[in-house]
Amino acid sequence: MLWAMGRNYEVIIFDLDDTIYPRHSGLMQEVGRRIREWVVNHLGLNAEEAATVQHDYYVRYGTTLAGLLAEHSIDPRSYLSFVHDVPIEKFLAEDKALAALLQSIPLRKVIYTNGTADYAWRVLRALGVADYFEQVIGIEEVGLRNKLHREAHEQVLARLGVPASACIMVEDSARNLGPARELGMTTILVGAEPESDDGADFVVRDVMELEGIVRRLLESGCRPASLNTVRADEAGPADATRSPDSVPA
Ligand SMILES: [Mg+2]
Repeated sequence: MLWAMGRNYEVIIFDLDDTIYPRHSGLMQEVGRRIREWVVNHLGLNAEEAATVQHDYYVRYGTTLAGLLAEHSIDPRSYLSFVHDVPIEKFLAEDKALAALLQSIPLRKVIYTNGTADYAWRVLRALGVADYFEQVIGIEEVGLRNKLHREAHEQVLARLGVPASACIMVEDSARNLGPARELGMTTILVGAEPESDDGADFVVRDVMELEGIVRRLLESGCRPASLNTVRADEAGPADATRSPDSVPA
């Protein structure tokens, strides 16, 4: 299909939490615990009720913040600063393998997160990879709209100054990838057991599996034209002996 061909990839956009570092680090669970604490303190609920609200808002609005903004009068800045006030170094350490992966990818690198840019930079510094990223785009930079909103992704593209077709987006949430893929980005879902992989062109178990897929995308200059997701193990091992036509086109 012609529309899929001749891409000129320029930017790789990484989600932050549970993408650039592994879920088992526990950092995102700690942020989730802070979110629950905030809900308990500000909505006058017990912990169990707060957890229910948190889950409900996540399902209906994409994030707890979006639900709070829709249904309550809250100060988003103080909420964001409270929930991200976590001792990151207790959960993450320098990651030399991640640094080597980033070094190997010859594209502009950006973080785009539903969290704050300040928090994201702290995470990147803890991992020892801040220098690889040209910018971080947080929720405050896209009008507090989360990634379920197409407009948020459009604002990201406007900031980057590139068309969607020039972007590869890497994310652990399939539903966050949906609007990006609709806009024309090539999407890679990180995580072994996605709830749904409809929004993804590729699925990898771990961010460290990216290198082979990205190399093949750059060689072929296209994203898969079919809507069928290609898993990393089906796409073949990340070795130089595979021909470029192993990328579905
Ligand atoms: Mg994430």
